[in-house]
Amino acid sequence: GSAPIVMQRNPMFSTINADDITKFKEILGEKNVVQDEEVLLAANTDWMQKYKGSSNLLLQPRTTEEVSQILKYCNSRCLAVVPQGGNTGLVGGSVPVFDEVIINMGSMKNIISFDKVSGILVCEAGCILENLVSFLDNQGFVMPLDLGAKGSCQIGGNVSTNAGGLRFVRYGSLHGNVLGLEAVLANGTVLDMLGTLRKDNTGYDLKHLFIGSEGSLGIISKVSILTPPKLSSVNLAFLACKDYVSCQNLLLEAKRKLGNILSAFEFLDSHSMDLVLNHLEGVRNPLPPSMHNFYVLIETTGSDQSYDKEKLEAFLLRYMEVGLISDGVLAQDINQAFSFWRIREGVPEALMKAGAVYKYDLSLPIEKMYDLVEEMRMRLGPAAKVVGYGHLGDGNLHLNISLPEYDDTVLGQVEPFVYEWTSKHRGSISAEHGLGLMKANKIHYSKSTESVHLMVSIKKLLDPNGILNPYKVLPSSLTS
Ligand code: FAD
Repeated sequence: GSAPIVMQRNPMFSTINADDITKFKEILGEKNVVQDEEVLLAANTDWMQKYKGSSNLLLQPRTTEEVSQILKYCNSRCLAVVPQGGNTGLVGGSVPVFDEVIINMGSMKNIISFDKVSGILVCEAGCILENLVSFLDNQGFVMPLDLGAKGSCQIGGNVSTNAGGLRFVRYGSLHGNVLGLEAVLANGTVLDMLGTLRKDNTGYDLKHLFIGSEGSLGIISKVSILTPPKLSSVNLAFLACKDYVSCQNLLLEAKRKLGNILSAFEFLDSHSMDLVLNHLEGVRNPLPPSMHNFYVLIETTGSDQSYDKEKLEAFLLRYMEVGLISDGVLAQDINQAFSFWRIREGVPEALMKAGAVYKYDLSLPIEKMYDLVEEMRMRLGPAAKVVGYGHLGDGNLHLNISLPEYDDTVLGQVEPFVYEWTSKHRGSISAEHGLGLMKANKIHYSKSTESVHLMVSIKKLLDPNGILNPYKVLPSSLTS
């Protein structure tokens, strides 16, 4: 199935000719100008296999200077481009819509510096998140973000989408942790904002424009990020709750009682669990089969193993007694912890294997969050599997509708209902995945007309020809 988005190629953009290829080879060398069909097929297709472009050209810059020269040339020729990281984005932002040139950042993967006193890491944008995690682990530090796609996604992609993930509840947003950036503008200008200072109130903080801008304002080439020290004691509990209200109350208590050692609070409903058990090999429910409606993962990270463990055990015991927790188990070792995380992190993969999926990534008031899942289930009836999971600790619901194949009739029942519902509760229609192609025309559900117009002005100022990731993020009717 393909994405149900019908649009026209913007005729302002040129198409690639032989001179362009010669020029790119001059800048990058033969082998970094990729026209191989197999590579292009993969780079034209998104992680969900839902969005497919038809680009004939992928460029692999190795330095900021190369990125700058490519963009300068594309801008002068009015060639549209799509910046691409690990291509794990979930809103169709990282693949071309038509024949945009793909600029893949994977070759810019050097770590530039690490300061062990401040914990500040400076690296190139193409570093894979998991590689940064391993590098830091050896230094006794951790990345302030973690997510299921860590084996492929790149730090530049994470910053460009302002990815949230599993540790957000503890370490907060990339708007806080990213201390500096280097970005290349559409005309090739290199913007050095690669500071490593915690405090710097000199004028407008321009880096924030690029964090979460999904490749629409510039290409991020380097990142400076504050990393917290690795703490020795990590504990993980896998719990069951009988209803959503219990999950919600448990969150409140966890924040209150576990306070500064709480490092993750994730949830999934039994429908998500069924999908994982049915579609992922080697995964099993650590709790005996029962009528559990919800599962919660609580992770603590601190510096005193016996104290932290006792604290979590006492917490579990207490809330089992009062009935907020119906059943639960503490990971006994790192392998068991890994298997618990596999369940939660495996939900997107299981959904993909189950067939077609409509994905909604919403911020909602926590007390209202699951009402939407239930309403959607009633609305769609037994024809669709409606699942809810996500980062409960951050008020972030992943509402997913799983079907054997894409179906416009079902989609018509889901949208715009889901956006209207979210807007009515003053939520966000994109909590952490961005707008991409999927929601470029939906931004008004979460942002005022005045805000959108200012965004359009900023886009036009930084990228007057609109070559950077066209058709994404902002409504095409306003940008072209
Ligand atoms: P891509 O997918 O390649 O690109 C994403 C966007 O950023 C595109 O618009 C692209 O044009 C732009 N971009 C990429 N690199 C650059 C650059 N250097 N400069 C400018 N623009 C660039 N997200 C969360 O927030 N939390 C989660 O918990 C989470 N879990 C996930 C789990 C799975 C299994 C998967 C598949 C995805 C998950 N995601 C999650 C989605 C998330 O947005 C991405 O995984 C990740 O942040 C994207 O990084 P990437 O390198 O793959 O970027």
